[in-house]
Amino acid sequence: MRGAAGEVAEVSRPRTERAAGAPRVGLLSLQGDFEKHREAFASLGAAAVRVSLPEHLAGLDALVVPGGESTTMLRLLEATGLRAGVERFVREKPVLGTCAGLILLAKSADRLPAPTLGALDVTAERNAWGRQVHSFTGRVDVGPLGRAFDGVFIRAPRITRVGRGVEVVATLEGEPVGVRHGRVAAFTFHPELTPDTRLHAWFLRDVARLAVNGEGGR
Ligand code: GLN
Repeated sequence: MRGAAGEVAEVSRPRTERAAGAPRVGLLSLQGDFEKHREAFASLGAAAVRVSLPEHLAGLDALVVPGGESTTMLRLLEATGLRAGVERFVREKPVLGTCAGLILLAKSADRLPAPTLGALDVTAERNAWGRQVHSFTGRVDVGPLGRAFDGVFIRAPRITRVGRGVEVVATLEGEPVGVRHGRVAAFTFHPELTPDTRLHAWFLRDVARLAVNGEGGR
């Protein structure tokens, strides 16, 4: 920025693949919570829309596979006819998985009625924190954010294997709780359950390369 109006305009243009219109983020809404993710994306200038039928995948810039019960979600993927479309989407477009979403995106996980989607070369162990710590909040170190994040863990899985090329982007006491491979990112906790939208902002801006309003530090 050296003062010329033209240069200022150039600098402030959003870094986005979509020149106009809010990014459209689909939320796989077979089960589990939708509203908190929608609020987080709305505060960042993105429109979150429900995905419960194959035709809802059309025109989306990114997809969220949320928390819930991975066994139920896998069954509903088949029952709704969404499985083929979601499999294609997660191979081609930006995807964010949280908790059960990470399980679905993993290459393998235990005790499931159908194969996972296999978009991330990790192994997940379901409900692996033990009965005593069913649910807890932990200080998660998230490398790309440069600061800690309060992670809400609810009957969360553990990541027991991280494949080559998969980057660990979040740790809890040294253990991986967030991973990224290219345009696919997933966390074992629920970033939508805290008012802090930095992880949603990071996903939109750095993983999906879509426009973000503000820095996501509500
Ligand atoms: N325990 C669930 C499962 O194994 C995941 C829990 C969650 O998404 N909060 O699918």
